[in-house]
Amino acid sequence: MEDRKQWPHHRGSVFAKLVAIMFALAVCLLLMVAGFFWLIISPNFSFSVDRLAREYAAAIAVTAPDRQTAIEIRNRLDVPIRYEGPGGNWATDNNLPSITEVRAGSVHRSPHGRDYYLVPAPNGGTYLFAWNLIQPMRKVHLRLLALLLFLMLAVLLSAHAVLKLLLRPVRWLGEGVEQLGSGQLDIVLPVRTRDEFGALTDAFNRMVRRVREMIQARDQLLLDVSHELRSPLTRMKVALELLPEGESKEELATDIGEMELMVAELLELERLRDGRGLNPSFQDLAPILREMAVRFNKKRPGVRLIAPSQKIELNIDEDKIRTVLRNLLENAFKYSLPDSRPIEISCAQNEDSVIVRVSDDGPGIPAEDSAGLFEPFFRVDRSRSKKTGGYGLGLSICKRIMEAHGGDIVFQNNPVRGTSFILTFPIPPSKMGTALPEPSLDSKRSPVLLSGMHD
Ligand code: ADP
Repeated sequence: MEDRKQWPHHRGSVFAKLVAIMFALAVCLLLMVAGFFWLIISPNFSFSVDRLAREYAAAIAVTAPDRQTAIEIRNRLDVPIRYEGPGGNWATDNNLPSITEVRAGSVHRSPHGRDYYLVPAPNGGTYLFAWNLIQPMRKVHLRLLALLLFLMLAVLLSAHAVLKLLLRPVRWLGEGVEQLGSGQLDIVLPVRTRDEFGALTDAFNRMVRRVREMIQARDQLLLDVSHELRSPLTRMKVALELLPEGESKEELATDIGEMELMVAELLELERLRDGRGLNPSFQDLAPILREMAVRFNKKRPGVRLIAPSQKIELNIDEDKIRTVLRNLLENAFKYSLPDSRPIEISCAQNEDSVIVRVSDDGPGIPAEDSAGLFEPFFRVDRSRSKKTGGYGLGLSICKRIMEAHGGDIVFQNNPVRGTSFILTFPIPPSKMGTALPEPSLDSKRSPVLLSGMHD
């Protein structure tokens, strides 16, 4: 089956990489700002403030404030003050260390981040000032950091949104290439920008148009050649009748027969284009499957049909569906190996479609050939051998017939050996809800089982 890869949305995508780059840039910027503050601004600022505080403490000490004045200063500037000396021992706060402790160097800073300054008093005593300089600065730094983090998050979110919008054409292009790869040729991608992406999308649209025109020209050429070949072929057949009997006459008759078949298949392919050339009616698919299985079961390695015994009513062109099954079964027999198990036809149903599977035990189809398998004149073995000789038109006719029915055909290599062709028929809305039982060999509903009737 043509494996449709999922277009990657996040993992490993350019989009994710760009967002990661933006994130890394934002983190670097944040580290730079923080480093600048911690290493340059903060030490210089602390040094100046420290000098100022010392000078200011000295200026206050010169005025020899008593306890009452000290309390006023403390309330105004948030600077607890202690005095020890001839004027007595007092402190504006209880939790201040003694001047002896600070002088001994056992404490430099209070638990609240206050720095202690010892200043001599005019009367021979000593004042202790506890300036709170670090904490407000830390608060400001933390606020700045929070603001920066918030800005970084906002920038990242907006970058995410902008990048998503900017990279939309890349996502559309990816989806367009996927669709083109799966054979869809009527794609026109929207060109919304005039930048490089716009130019790329425009070039993609032109390329798709060109491919479509080339394929149309090829189909038209095939059709014209097939039409033109019909008259010479008829004349050759008439001329052949007049030739004397002999080996060369037989060979010529075979060659003309092959050419006639090819021309007929090519014309049939064209007739089926765009869903034309069908005569659909409500038919039971089960008897058609049974009939084809019986017809092909006479040859080695035989056919095994696993289908539910009840009706499978679908809106189909009976003859065309027989053609599909015949082509698939002929291929399955052609490519079966001497030790191959019987070819299996099975039928199942899901919510909105009936699925028929024709599975063989042959060599399988190389994965690299999956893209062209349903194209006209495609052959895995490019050199035509007499045993497997065909024109590579069978599967393209099957594809056209299934698409004309609103269904599809895909192939899948079996896990061990061989290939399965899977036909999907849409269930008409009026017949929905009549689910078929899952076919299985030991089903109590006794599916039709047919095998081993070959000689
Ligand atoms: P042809 O007339 O050559 O059989 P088809 O369109 O039916 O043309 O098939 C195209 C090619 O696909 C074949 O030439 C063959 O190489 C490959 N093929 C088809 N069916 C099978 C199968 N069941 N097992 C292996 N290869 C297959």
